[in-house]
Amino acid sequence: MAGRFAQAVFAGAALLAASVSGAPQAQAEQLAKNLFGAKDLPAATAPQSIGFYSKGCFSGGVAIATDGPTWQAMRLSRNRRWGHPTMIALIEKLSRAAVADGWPGLLLGDISQPRGGPMMTGHASHQIGLDADIWFTPMPDRRLSASERENMSATSLVNEKTHRVIDKLWTPAHERLLKRAASYPEVERILVNPGIKKKLCDTVTGDRSWLRKVRPFWGHDYHFHVRIGCQPGSPDCKRQEATPASDGCDKSLAWWFTEEPWRPNKNPDAPKARDIMTMASLPKACRAVLNAPDPVSIAAVTYPVNGGAATISTAQPVTASAAGGAALPSSISAFAPTPDIGVPLPRPRPGN
Ligand SMILES: [Zn+2]
Repeated sequence: MAGRFAQAVFAGAALLAASVSGAPQAQAEQLAKNLFGAKDLPAATAPQSIGFYSKGCFSGGVAIATDGPTWQAMRLSRNRRWGHPTMIALIEKLSRAAVADGWPGLLLGDISQPRGGPMMTGHASHQIGLDADIWFTPMPDRRLSASERENMSATSLVNEKTHRVIDKLWTPAHERLLKRAASYPEVERILVNPGIKKKLCDTVTGDRSWLRKVRPFWGHDYHFHVRIGCQPGSPDCKRQEATPASDGCDKSLAWWFTEEPWRPNKNPDAPKARDIMTMASLPKACRAVLNAPDPVSIAAVTYPVNGGAATISTAQPVTASAAGGAALPSSISAFAPTPDIGVPLPRPRPGN
């Protein structure tokens, strides 16, 4: 999200990165997206988000299962099913509530890479395990094949010329789904296309307080983006600005229906922050996250499908020195309860 403002800052770092690649001490200047993009598994340390949504990383990530009774994960090859345990628990909870509300189930887009950080493609944010994309396309009543999950195209709900919702595609169930997502206290923002925000502004009756969390943004016409706040146990997580108290159906929304936000980018070839961010541009603790050990298996860090039924184990403590000597808490492991989070964590499979 903050990408366009950060470009100038990172331009210098990119030049540096280009000139020193290959030197043994060059990790500091290597592109962070290459290093984080190469990680298949999370850092097996306590759950912690470090930095900001568009400039950070996280440890103690867990994956959402590719399939649950009320969801299916899409684009599996991207390996972006990872999030802070609270984020993953929230998605499962939302999927169950959505089905109870009459939505057929969730198709899940990108959450984060196993250790977060900038990505090779897409997304300025999604770096600290607290962002998730959910498709507006309802889940079909059958399991999609792996290739369907790669290739199935999503349907935009918005006319790209008028920036208004295509009325025949919009249903009360879409509104209920967004309202449900906004109902959770941990959810701070939901990003949707301005056309969708306008549709809500024009049609929601009764309680409109939840509209405050639903924020207009470019894209987000075939999916919405759920962002939760910094979680306990993450002292280095940088909070985002609070949303204004109003419902946002005002001048700030009207701006999106002027010509200004849609002007062509004056400098389309300028690199995005994500593409030139080096390890030196990320919080220092992200090096420890990168160097932290892997969990014993992917199963050990896949969040239980049945939500609340997992038993907590304190196996596999990881010390700060094993994690690269940095300031990750050593007293708790990825599998131990994190104080105040109040969600179950996965249990390592016995003998694995
Ligand atoms: Zn997103």
